[in-house]
Amino acid sequence: MSTKPTLRRCVACRELLDRQQLWRVIRLAEGGMALDQGMGRSAYLCTTQSCFEEAKRRKRLQKALRCQVADSIYTALEQRLHVTSSAGAEAR
Ligand SMILES: [Zn+2]
Repeated sequence: MSTKPTLRRCVACRELLDRQQLWRVIRLAEGGMALDQGMGRSAYLCTTQSCFEEAKRRKRLQKALRCQVADSIYTALEQRLHVTSSAGAEAR
């Protein structure tokens, strides 16, 4: 087993990060879209408010995946942002 991280580029800020630290949005080969799990073209996004907003405003996910991104995907990511930030506050 290699411990070398798999690096992926955030579609918003273009930074290379360990894929474990990024959200993965997948355009499924069989149609539709998914988060985290699935086979198909993938786009990666930092788990931060700024990258989420940048990606949404500039349609970075649409461009990376070359398809429309449903509002439900953004809603799901936005909910994760709130979960992540409240979990971080609790840890402190
Ligand atoms: Zn980013």
